[in-house]
Amino acid sequence: MCNSSTPCTDTDRRKFLKTAGLTMLGTTALAHTSMATAAATVPKPENNISAKEAMKRLDAGNTRYVEGKSTLHDFKSEREVLSGGQNPYAAILSCADSRIVPEYTFDSARGDLFVVRIAGNFASVDTIASLEYTVGVLGTPLIMVLGHEKCGAVAGAISSIREGAELPANIPKLVDAISPAVGLALKHPHEDQLLKQAIRENVRLNVATLKAASPMLSKLYALGDIDIVGGVYNLNTGRVDRVS
Ligand SMILES: [Zn+2]
Repeated sequence: MCNSSTPCTDTDRRKFLKTAGLTMLGTTALAHTSMATAAATVPKPENNISAKEAMKRLDAGNTRYVEGKSTLHDFKSEREVLSGGQNPYAAILSCADSRIVPEYTFDSARGDLFVVRIAGNFASVDTIASLEYTVGVLGTPLIMVLGHEKCGAVAGAISSIREGAELPANIPKLVDAISPAVGLALKHPHEDQLLKQAIRENVRLNVATLKAASPMLSKLYALGDIDIVGGVYNLNTGRVDRVS
């Protein structure tokens, strides 16, 4: 046990995360063999780090990617190490845009990032559940909501809301999810910055949603055991700028 006189180590934190996650998920869900196996296996000890260390690692990986100095990964040995489980050090809620590849963006190997992708990178019941799994069961200490420049989902939402553009099939559901961010961006005085502002507001709103909408994530965030941050990917440079 750790307390004010005995600071928590990373091992303590990860034990707590797993315990909290297992408790909140409930014994019924964890009776599922694959979940129990995932929780019990730690194939990458170097991924047992704090949220702060995880953020530094994302930043360092992004710098290597931007500078064209990405690591040459040994996929053969990675496959063998990861055959028994996973313990990613960060989770990324990313847009599904084909130009955004979080593993490349942060120069990460397999088993390092738990990537949840949906056009418009927004928190929904399904994406939150996936993030709860990686935080609560796998012990991931950091979540990043990753938007990007010139996001088609956000641009489509702006067109639909401002011009009444009709979108086919189920695509209006994306507009519904992104419309609160567009509403905030429309209050911005610079018309030429509307898309850029909406993309940033969408990241901010979804970071806030993750901090508040899930009892599991909210509790762990309030305790300081996980962090939830936002970023926007620059298409030209590959740089991820933090959104606060
Ligand atoms: Zn997008």
